[in-house]
Amino acid sequence: MSDTSPVVETEAEYALEFAVKCPGCDAWIERIGVVRMLRAKINFTSALPRRGRVMVCTKCSAILSAELGGLR
Ligand SMILES: [Zn+2]
Repeated sequence: MSDTSPVVETEAEYALEFAVKCPGCDAWIERIGVVRMLRAKINFTSALPRRGRVMVCTKCSAILSAELGGLR
């Protein structure tokens, strides 16, 4: 498995400034995949946003804790 061919299908990939260790597969990763998250169910009183993003390991697809700013 090479670093340039992720096994996980993601909408986009972001390069990390430094390698980090994935808690899912224990690999050192330098890229994080982003999967779009669309709201499928909502409580009437909820103020949660309509959409979001999930950052995943591009090797094992484990969900990682990460935040992506609103800048495009
Ligand atoms: Zn992983």
